[in-house]
Amino acid sequence: YVGPKTPNLGYKLEEFLSLVEVAGFEVAEVVTQFGRADTRFYLGSGKAKEIANKDFDVFVAYHSLTPLQVFNLERLFRRKVIDRVFVILMIFDKRAGSLESKLQIELARLRYELPKVKEYLRRAKMGEQLGFMGAGEYVIDAYYRHMVRRISTIRRKLEEIKRGRAMHIMKRKEKGVPEVVLTGYTSAGKTTLFNSLVNENKLVDGRPFATLETYSRALDLWGKRIVLTDTIGFIDDLPPLLIESFYSTLQEIIDADRILLVIDGSEPLEEITRKVETSVKTLGEVGIGRERIIPVLNKVDKISVEKVRDIRRGLEKYFTWFVPVSALTGFGIEALKAVLFLQVPGYDIIKASANS
Ligand code: GDP
Repeated sequence: YVGPKTPNLGYKLEEFLSLVEVAGFEVAEVVTQFGRADTRFYLGSGKAKEIANKDFDVFVAYHSLTPLQVFNLERLFRRKVIDRVFVILMIFDKRAGSLESKLQIELARLRYELPKVKEYLRRAKMGEQLGFMGAGEYVIDAYYRHMVRRISTIRRKLEEIKRGRAMHIMKRKEKGVPEVVLTGYTSAGKTTLFNSLVNENKLVDGRPFATLETYSRALDLWGKRIVLTDTIGFIDDLPPLLIESFYSTLQEIIDADRILLVIDGSEPLEEITRKVETSVKTLGEVGIGRERIIPVLNKVDKISVEKVRDIRRGLEKYFTWFVPVSALTGFGIEALKAVLFLQVPGYDIIKASANS
């Protein structure tokens, strides 16, 4: 179930529904709230009552819910109520492989649940019957304390891992191998492009967040070696809680010599410009200026020459050029390699001519 009406949701709703499915749910029905919503319930009270009588297991809200809204809806529906943040956490949880990303997710999850448990605790202290969650004040209090302790343990462990990684990056820098990182929105074709650049067959499953950990391979460009790294993609309305967790692991991006920003050319022009704008802004926030970004227009096999021209005009504000490629057919891949050869710093001429 998805909640109130938001203008221009079209594309985003589709993306959200696919996230809900990737998280392991089957969507029974999409409910739209047209009238005014009651902020305590997220939905209008009439709509909430109507939903309460329907047949479903979990109510999923498109937006982020406040702890009070979750509390109120769960009590009304007598079923589990989750929101966008939780859906993304579920997906991350499934995909996490390394200890670090497991810890990051556990931390995000605890921080997400903490205010909710606090709300339950507050209610329990007031002597309220909590029905759904069942537990009494003592149990909730113990759980709350456990969460707080666990959060500080995880923070400490993550700090250690981060120090270790910083060392690792420093060593690589000392060796002088430049690093190029792939980024872009989910489904733009990052994994496919990665594979075609390094001639590998890393699983492309076309679903959001196939890539949670960063994944690196060396690439030899006519004697010039670079390290190419695939990263988790951007996603619309990523909850701040997760931005913090994930962008902190993206030290790799921050330190990279060049960023390949993969753009899905098959999307409508407005989508393309919106996504490029968000990407440029997000990268800017972590200190990456446009001069370090190499824009790559992917999926050109699906679009006309006119569309490429329109995209070029549409993106002029952000970039005066981009490399058109098709990661799928291989079109433009050699040109992209040439751009990398020219743009990535650290070219060792003597070594290259010795190799050729
Ligand atoms: P990621 O989420 O950015 O890693 O994207 P993927 O590499 O998983 O690709 C998402 C979907 O787009 C997959 O179904 C790919 O087969 C498809 N795709 C990727 N590159 C191209 C391309 O150049 N042309 C076409 N037509 N499809 C592509």
